Amino acid sequence: MFVGHFAVAFLLWRLFPQVPLPVVLISVSFPDLLWSLLVPAGIEKVRINPDSPLQKFIVFEKFPYSHSLVLGSVLSIPIGLLIAGLLNNPVIVPVFVAGSASHWLLDTVVHLKDLPILGFDGDRKVGAGLWKRGPLAFVVEFVFYTIVTLFALSGLPLVYALILGGAFHAINLRSFFGSNRKNSVKSSNAYAGLALVGFGSFTLIASLII
Ligand SMILES: [Zn+2]
Repeated sequence: MFVGHFAVAFLLWRLFPQVPLPVVLISVSFPDLLWSLLVPAGIEKVRINPDSPLQKFIVFEKFPYSHSLVLGSVLSIPIGLLIAGLLNNPVIVPVFVAGSASHWLLDTVVHLKDLPILGFDGDRKVGAGLWKRGPLAFVVEFVFYTIVTLFALSGLPLVYALILGGAFHAINLRSFFGSNRKNSVKSSNAYAGLALVGFGSFTLIASLII
């Protein structure tokens, strides 16, 4: 899931306006930002399918640090503390942890049964697998993004957020609908790099225009 996470960031910003927008955007991105560093480091493992760009064929073999509910949330605490300390704003700590945990919760809707709960060996893994129905997942994620963003923002920021979300969601079209062509992403490191660029650029652009 990609743009859906950012709708929750807008909601958190509406609920806690004292927390700067870039901070909530980074909080909901935190699991994937961490993942994009741990994959090339060889600590977390993902296998892509060279023959298809569809999300359902991506095998998330191991990502206990970035994508478990318990361990992932624990790891978000020091980052929340660090940002709260730098900005002298203690509310950031619980908001950052909530944003990071929301990422895991939303991921459980689309992922296949690969998301660990605790983050340790022999852990139970969950995922409702909406990605198995790519076109439906595409629609559901954008409807969710639109409804939550409509509730969270208003005026020009709302317009910009809807355009930005639509544009970024459209970039992912092929991962939902597939195509006759092979997967243009050639390696797990390239896939991790794309996640870093995707989450990073959405956060940057949204922070500038909203
Ligand atoms: Zn994720």
